[in-house]
Amino acid sequence: MTDIRASRGLRPVINVSGTMTALGASIVVREAVAAMTAILPEFVEINDLHKIASPVIARLTGGEAGFITASCSAGITLAVAAAMTGNDLAAIERLPDATGLKNEVIIQTGHVVSYGAPVDQGIRMAGAKAILIGQATSCYPYHLDGAINEHTAAAVFVVSHHTVQYGLIALKQFAEVCHARGVPVIVDAASEYDLKIFLEQGADIALYSSHKFLGGPTGGIVAGKKQLVRDAFLQNRGIGRGMKIGKESILGTIAALEAWEKRDHAAIRERETGYLNLWKQTLTGKPGVTAQIEADPTHNPLDRLRVTINPQETHITAWDFADALAGGSRPVIVRDHEAEHGYFYLDPCNLHPGEEAIVASRLEEELNKARASNAIIASPYEERYQARIDALMRWPD
Ligand SMILES: *Cc1c(COP(=O)(O)O)cnc(C)c1O
Repeated sequence: MTDIRASRGLRPVINVSGTMTALGASIVVREAVAAMTAILPEFVEINDLHKIASPVIARLTGGEAGFITASCSAGITLAVAAAMTGNDLAAIERLPDATGLKNEVIIQTGHVVSYGAPVDQGIRMAGAKAILIGQATSCYPYHLDGAINEHTAAAVFVVSHHTVQYGLIALKQFAEVCHARGVPVIVDAASEYDLKIFLEQGADIALYSSHKFLGGPTGGIVAGKKQLVRDAFLQNRGIGRGMKIGKESILGTIAALEAWEKRDHAAIRERETGYLNLWKQTLTGKPGVTAQIEADPTHNPLDRLRVTINPQETHITAWDFADALAGGSRPVIVRDHEAEHGYFYLDPCNLHPGEEAIVASRLEEELNKARASNAIIASPYEERYQARIDALMRWPD
């Protein structure tokens, strides 16, 4: 099979960075591809299609109902809007004008992160105000309780490696405080494997991305309490219109959820562990390189290889090494958002068979090149950061 990327002049990137929107999210499972191909040429009554998604989402998440929207990010906005308007269709059409509605949404300061766009913007898009509680690394139940008043519409809780991982209120207690005051809890669990635990721990709505671990098409799954899910669904007559999802992605997500139920998760973990061991072996004994297998920070059943670089010995910094790997005719994109600390990660969960060997040989190739260099390759980190913004500002040139 020819690679469609070549005919369009696109680089054949190998993704060892994780599930990244910027790289096309994930490998869509074949069950979802087949469902999407089958429905695309057909007409279908869209609300009926949405209806058949609900019991599938309910079964997998343990929620009462569910629907599919454009993205998890859209799900945040729609769930917040639902908590503001209820089923008032006139209010739904008036948003983001929130006159007369509860319009405050509470979130721990340590959860206000960027997944490519700011979490709090997803809240504000519904016409709500984000009320930040506590400080970046410290938040107590009294902060939460003290912020709840007659304007409070909802509280948002984010589960992500991006958030501060200590000193904050855990979900169970967060939900207890909210529920004692009648405030619904919306959990952004976009990138989490466990489809049940957040509703079990007290979320009224849990949100997931279709296109991350599930291997679905781009989409967002809204699951939870039936009335709140319904009120979020009704937003499709208002601000949800611009977050519309097509028939193919609704059915594709249903198919991905059903495939997820049948997936041999243990076998996949074993294959991924094999990749990690191969890369670790490749790097073991290379001067200035330490390779360590590390668990996922939010407890997903997934390990990554942390590659720590001592530039004195490798003759290259971690970030220049990452950039070198990303160049050439077989670009390998590593997980490098912490590269300023002198390490990056290799994530094994988005590879086609055989790509693990290419990753191993690219690691060796670039390390050997750097070792052969007389000077240490060390570009200023701030310039690399700035270069990304500069490139963006030149788009589409
Ligand atoms: C990826 C991610 C999002 C965004 O999800 P999309 O479905 O791509 O909009 C939101 N929150 C967190 C924590 C994420 O990891």
